[in-house]
Amino acid sequence: MTKIAIIPVVDQEMCIGCGICVENLPDVFHLASSGKAACFDPNGATEEEIQFQAIDVCPVTCIHWKPVELA
Ligand code: SF4
Repeated sequence: MTKIAIIPVVDQEMCIGCGICVENLPDVFHLASSGKAACFDPNGATEEEIQFQAIDVCPVTCIHWKPVELA
């Protein structure tokens, strides 16, 4: 049976590189050399922490949940 998980994904077009998500959850997000944030470890925090401390506070609402299939 296929298992589905959800991971946070940063829309690279929309991210303004403010760093709020990186500051709040440094074990999940980092700023890439492009100056935009990216998720490097979706397991670095709980779903609730990611929702409340990153997705809900992103000033341009550019972090979204994406379903992925687990092997
Ligand atoms: S909070 Fe949003 S705009 Fe700011 S760095 Fe993170 S993803 Fe980019």
